[in-house]
Amino acid sequence: MSNNNALKHGAEKGSLILEGRKIIKTYPTPRGKLTVLSDASIAASRGEMLAVMGASGSGKSTLLHALGALDKIDSGTVLLDGQDISKKSETSRAEIRNGRIGFMFQFYHLFSDFNALDNVLMPARIGRRMNGQKRKELLERAAGLLERVGLGDRMLHRPFELSGGEQQRVAIARALLNEPDVILADEPTGNLDPVTGRTIHELLKSLNREYNQTMIIVTHNPSLVKMCDRVTYLVDGKVTTDLPKGFLTVPTSRDGTKK
Ligand code: ADP
Ligand code: MG
Repeated sequence: MSNNNALKHGAEKGSLILEGRKIIKTYPTPRGKLTVLSDASIAASRGEMLAVMGASGSGKSTLLHALGALDKIDSGTVLLDGQDISKKSETSRAEIRNGRIGFMFQFYHLFSDFNALDNVLMPARIGRRMNGQKRKELLERAAGLLERVGLGDRMLHRPFELSGGEQQRVAIARALLNEPDVILADEPTGNLDPVTGRTIHELLKSLNREYNQTMIIVTHNPSLVKMCDRVTYLVDGKVTTDLPKGFLTVPTSRDGTKK
């Protein structure tokens, strides 16, 4: 894996890589339109580890889906490396997602019929980039990533033969396969015990340091927030850096508490 992954498009470290501007997102419901994001703006710089906190139901997953071009938005823009990806067709959004964005979910979302190695290779299979020499390179890369997340001896295990923490590590390796510009993680340790969660937090932080990997992480977990450079909150459909009522302050690494 190149260790200047986040710089592969020739831009400077610290410059903006993913930006959501004035996002409005509504869902149709039997009782009318439900506005979840009413004017949400958020930006992550290259190499940044950014936390997003917010009450359950505040729209955190909706925001990540919008930023990752998984869902269409009603209005606003999502700029990836300066290019608006929000208005593109489903086909080109799928291509951008697959090649440039890595997703991590609370429930891992691994394919149960495939072993760890094949799950990590899934983004390449979907992108149909699995021919000849490329196939060999991708296999080596996937195996290397599994080694990196400590699963060198679990490559041929299927998800049901792995613990929750191991499954999430497979999902991390999968998210890294295509050297994404940014990883979007939705409560990545929300379903793990505190000790296992902690190992995943350490792993995410070390990947952020080693590869300068940009990450936007939705989490309720103070120890993960602490490792982030910055924390934002989703309140009333908007993103704010002001601590909302009822939230405890969590000093982040940019505050000088941990680096
Ligand atoms: P969070 O991740 O912060 O818990 P979500 O983004 O999942 O919140 O959901 C925000 C709000 O939008 C919730 O009230 C939820 O019920 C609603 N919602 C989410 N997805 C849909 C959908 N597909 N259709 C209608 N309402 C939805
Ligand atoms: Mg959610």
